[in-house]
Amino acid sequence: MLPSIIALDGPASAGKSTIGMLLAGYLNYLFFDTGNMYRAVTLAVLQRQAKVTNELIVNQIADVVKIDVMPISFNDGRQSTIMLDGNDVTWDIRSSEVDANVSQVSAYSHVRQVLTAQMREIGKRGRVIMAGRDIGTVVLPDADLKLYLIASPEERARRRHAELEARGVKRSFEDILSSIRERDHFDSHREHAPLKPADDALIVDTTGLNIEQSATKLLSVVKSFKPVSV
Ligand code: C5P
Repeated sequence: MLPSIIALDGPASAGKSTIGMLLAGYLNYLFFDTGNMYRAVTLAVLQRQAKVTNELIVNQIADVVKIDVMPISFNDGRQSTIMLDGNDVTWDIRSSEVDANVSQVSAYSHVRQVLTAQMREIGKRGRVIMAGRDIGTVVLPDADLKLYLIASPEERARRRHAELEARGVKRSFEDILSSIRERDHFDSHREHAPLKPADDALIVDTTGLNIEQSATKLLSVVKSFKPVSV
């Protein structure tokens, strides 16, 4: 029997979305990357030239924005199409400015409440791999299978650097590495839903593995899944 709801957590650039997408393709499951939602709220805050440190304003923006995640309609390397208030923001939410501010926005408990409710609705459908930081601990604590992906910060920075280069975006390796370390620190030390593996999560280290090897490793974990009997 395959697990119907799979939580896939882990730090920034651990490969959750690339590997999760591949795995979802093998299983014919929906892949849902919750980081996109925090990124979309962050972009909305920046577009309104509001301060990310102003919790009240950020909360109000989270209440009114409409985020949609849609299947891809054309192939430019995107994994899904992210709409913010009717506009395609798929690439805008991956800018270094969003990278630098998203951890602050996602630390606010009201923002988390609003987005968590939307995530749970999607999780209810089953046959889903949901990726994020707190899926196994907070969003879907009853997920059938909880995976926690890790890789060394240097490896994650290398992957992100290659991904940006492939899109023609210039950013130094050192800059990427320090931004990854900063986000790891912020995400792990925040008060609400900090980044950490659930007690019952399986930790999978993908350091030294390429995307296909990592996805194969996860697929074998999924296939050997045994439901906990009650
Ligand atoms: O996964 P990604 O790097 O796109 O996530 C962007 C940010 O969104 C993370 O650094 C984290 O601050 C936040 N996030 C979160 N909880 C999730 C998913 C993402 O706090 N479930």
